[in-house]
Amino acid sequence: MASEIGRMGRAPAGPGTDMAWFDVTTAWQGLPADQQRVIGAAAIAAGLGGNGAMEGRRPAVGFAAAPVEAAILLGRAVAAALPGPFAEGALPDLAALGIRTCRRCGCTEQCACPDRCAWAEPDLCTSCCTPPRRRVVRRRAAKGARS
Ligand SMILES: [Zn+2]
Ligand SMILES: [Zn+2]
Repeated sequence: MASEIGRMGRAPAGPGTDMAWFDVTTAWQGLPADQQRVIGAAAIAAGLGGNGAMEGRRPAVGFAAAPVEAAILLGRAVAAALPGPFAEGALPDLAALGIRTCRRCGCTEQCACPDRCAWAEPDLCTSCCTPPRRRVVRRRAAKGARS
């Protein structure tokens, strides 16, 4: 059974795509139920806490704590459930979650490159498509008298 999330996934890497993406949807589907329970519950806590914090709900400290604590728990649970990809530093494919992502560097709308990139193509940012600057070698003017 293909999920809605699974169908939104990124096409396999092709020429010019130097990033190795980790398919989070397939990874989730392959986890045993006990690991899915922990990771899913932590993800819900992170989402509820984050939404509450952004909306200024009270108690503010509780809504601020939920995504922080849930992210720590998530990190540990994912490291235990997927030790190989975790050790390799696999970059999660956010496109599989419907998030627009640069195919080369992984930047997104919410987390742009340091030079404040824009979209050059649907999945390529301006930081990654800019050709390398030509070196401009200035020669001294042949006819100019030195001052
Ligand atoms: Zn990029
Ligand atoms: Zn970028």
